[in-house]
Amino acid sequence: MSSLITNIQGYSIHDGPGIRTVVFLKGCGLNCLWCSNPECISPYPEIGFIKTLCTKCGQCATVCPNEAISAKPGQLPVTNRERCSGCGACSAVCVQEARVLYGKPMSVDEVFEAVKGDQLFYQASGGGITVSGGEPLLQPRFVSELLRKCKQADIHTCIETSGYGSESALRQVMPYTDYILFDLKHLSSALHRRYTGKPNELILNNAKIVISSGLEVLFRMPLIPGINDDPQNIRATADFLYSLGKKPIAIQLMLYHQLGKGKYESLDKPYPLAGLSALEPEQAETVQEMFKARGIDCTISR
Ligand code: SF4
Ligand code: SF4
Repeated sequence: MSSLITNIQGYSIHDGPGIRTVVFLKGCGLNCLWCSNPECISPYPEIGFIKTLCTKCGQCATVCPNEAISAKPGQLPVTNRERCSGCGACSAVCVQEARVLYGKPMSVDEVFEAVKGDQLFYQASGGGITVSGGEPLLQPRFVSELLRKCKQADIHTCIETSGYGSESALRQVMPYTDYILFDLKHLSSALHRRYTGKPNELILNNAKIVISSGLEVLFRMPLIPGINDDPQNIRATADFLYSLGKKPIAIQLMLYHQLGKGKYESLDKPYPLAGLSALEPEQAETVQEMFKARGIDCTISR
């Protein structure tokens, strides 16, 4: 059993308890305007091109089996993405690492071996593995088998989910999951659809399921200026969390940033929120106070 992996990132301290290794899967059912991992949205392999690293040697064009790259002397190569199959041959020959293959097939065992290497750090910090994406619930067989192996090896397990997956996928993964990071983006289903491409009913239902399962859950809300930070949505989100009936219940605000912008450029995709600046700290604190006033434990991830 294998999956396309875009990255395995060690020593993360922002994706669950302790020091963690984050496994980024490829493929997501949502298409959020503010996504900072655009290379994880498509379920297929994609090639990224980092222009600033390219020395214009032309080597990549000579190996492409689909003649998808045109390279003229002294100019940056141009990729015809309609011809590109994501085979990765150009990436393999580019010594400058200007061409990056997003989506490498890896088996459960290969990912497990990569994660196991940092077990000493997990033990010392209370950390473990976090499967992120992309969307773990779109690959429940792979994820549940990977997490099962980790638990067998005494490695703490976490998934980071948008909640946009089938109930059966969620129920398949939960028995092997110790901790869930669960995103809430907008409580209005119509606006959720406008900004992410999909309505939110499935997500809200899955939120109820994870809470009633008794697993440890931290909700997370990307706070996007002008999109979901208005008082009406914050109140609706707080009311929803309160209605879940779990005490205490926690949410972490994730402040909007533009760290993914370079990846959009590498994929020749326009950056959807160009020109949008981050929230001022005081604005985020106002939102935090609104959650706290409803009895919800609210923190800000800066
Ligand atoms: S092989 Fe790498 S450095 Fe050479 S032209 Fe292609 S992308 Fe640029
Ligand atoms: S990934 Fe493969 S098909 Fe795509 S541009 Fe590179 S060599 Fe060509």
